Amino acid sequence: MNKSYGFQRQVDLHAKADVVVLGGGPAGTAAAISASRCGKKVILLEQSGQLGGMGTLGNVSIFMPIGNVTGIYREMIAEVLAEYLPDNHDTSIAPQYSPFALRYYLNEKMKKENVDVYYHAEFIGVISGQRQIQAVIVSTRDGLKAFEAKQFIDCTGDARAAIDAGVPYCSGRESDGLTQPMTLMFMMQNTGKPVKSMLPEGCYEYKDKSELPQGRHLFWERNNDGMLLVNMTRVKGNGAKIEDINFAETESLKQVFSIAYYLQNNGFETYALSHIPGQVGVRETNQIQGLYTLTEQDVVGGRRFEDVVAQTNYEIDIHSPDGKGTTDERHVSGYDIPYRCMVSDAINNLLVAGRSISATHVAMSSMRVQPTCYALGQAAGIAASIAINNSCSVKNVSMETLHERLSEQGVVFKK
Ligand SMILES: Cc1cc2nc3c(=O)[nH]c(=O)nc-3n(C[C@H](O)[C@H](O)[C@H](O)COP(=O)(O)OP(=O)(O)OC[C@H]3O[C@@H](n4cnc5c(N)ncnc54)[C@H](O)[C@@H]3O)c2cc1C
Repeated sequence: MNKSYGFQRQVDLHAKADVVVLGGGPAGTAAAISASRCGKKVILLEQSGQLGGMGTLGNVSIFMPIGNVTGIYREMIAEVLAEYLPDNHDTSIAPQYSPFALRYYLNEKMKKENVDVYYHAEFIGVISGQRQIQAVIVSTRDGLKAFEAKQFIDCTGDARAAIDAGVPYCSGRESDGLTQPMTLMFMMQNTGKPVKSMLPEGCYEYKDKSELPQGRHLFWERNNDGMLLVNMTRVKGNGAKIEDINFAETESLKQVFSIAYYLQNNGFETYALSHIPGQVGVRETNQIQGLYTLTEQDVVGGRRFEDVVAQTNYEIDIHSPDGKGTTDERHVSGYDIPYRCMVSDAINNLLVAGRSISATHVAMSSMRVQPTCYALGQAAGIAASIAINNSCSVKNVSMETLHERLSEQGVVFKK
C-alpha cells in the first residue's frame, strides 16, 4: 500500500516544563527524579497507567546484577528491598521483587520528588525545527495535547521521539536486522495443595523440556513466599513492528497457559497461575545512532571511558532472535557506558536514555537490564539540567560538571 495521508491539527498547549521525559520505565523515572533534584520543573509522560516500564508492565520482576548498586537504583533498593542492600556499591545483587509494590512505590516517589506524571499520555510526534524540539504532541484521554520544554529525554524504549525528530537509528542484528524475541513473563503461586491444571482449547501440550518455546526451564522463586516468576515463553519478532506485536500478544498468552499446564504436570502440582501482565515483554527494538556506538568489543574488553555515565558487568545475554533454542550468554568482567551513546548529532535538546541508546545488537544485550537503565536515566536527567543552566546543546554538556552532579546524587563509579 503506497497511499498516505497528510494530518494537520491545531493542538492546544497543555503544559510547559523545563524538562519533559517521555516514558516512565526505569530510564524515564530516574531521569525525571534526577532532573527534578537539579531544581528543574519536570513532566513525565507515560502511555500506560503505571510507572516502571517492563519492570512492572511486563512483569520483569527481578533486577539483574550489574556489579554497581549506585545512585537512584541503590536508593530504590534501600527503600523497597532493604534486605538486599549491599554494604558496598560494587557488590552484585539480583533481587526478585513485587511488581505491584514497585508500581505503588514509583507513584508515591514521583509525588515526593515533585515530578508531574501524566498517565495515559502517549507521545505521538515532535514539533521541531533547526535541530531543536519545541514541543511534543501527546495523545491523552482528553484528546491531543501539546507539551513544551527546554529539554526532552526519550525513554520510550523504542526511541520513538528521537526517530520522529529525525535521529538516525537501526534495529537488531547487523546481519539481518532481527531483534531479540519477546516474552510474556507470568507468575504462579504455591497454594500448598494440588491444583486442577487447565489447558484451554488451542494451547500446546508440551511433552518434555525440549518442546518448550525456549527449550529450557527459566524461573525464580527467591523470596520463600511461594511465588514463582516464570520467563519461558518466546515469540520472535520486533516489538516495534505492528504485525509482530499483534502476533506476539496472542501467541505469548497461548504459551503462558501451555507452560503453566506443563509445569503443573511436571513438579509444580500445587502452583496456580496467579498473574499475567497486560502486555508482552519487549526486549529489543530500535537503537539510535549516537555520537558513540557501544560495541561488543567495548563490552568484552572491559573498556573504560572518560565520559562514563553507567557501569555494568551484566553478561552478554541474547535470547535467540531466530526463535527457538539457544541463548548466547557470555561472562563480562565490567565496562563503562559513555555519555555520547545517549546523544545524537541531529537534535540539540534531546537525550535518549534506557535500552534504545546507541549500541550494537550484542552490546545492547548486556546494557539493556533495568539497573543500567536507571543509571542512564539518572545521568540524562542531570545532563539535561546542565544544558539548561548553561544554555548549551546536550552535546556540549561539561563532563566535569556532570560527574560532580552525579556524585552529589550518590553515584559512585569504580575506577
Ligand atoms: C521478557 C523480558 C525479560 C527481562 N528480564 C530482565 C531481568 O530479569 N532483569 C532486568 O533487570 N531486566 C530484564 N529485562 C530488561 C529490562 O526490563 C528492560 O530492558 C528495561 O526495562 C528497559 O528500560 P527502559 O526504561 O529503557 O524501557 P522500558 O522498560 O521499556 O520502559 C519504557 C516506558 O515508556 C513507555 N512508552 C513507550 N512508548 C511510549 C510513548 N509513545 N509515549 C509515552 N510512553 C511510552 C512504556 O509504556 C514504558 O513505561 C527483561 C526484558 C524483557 C522484555
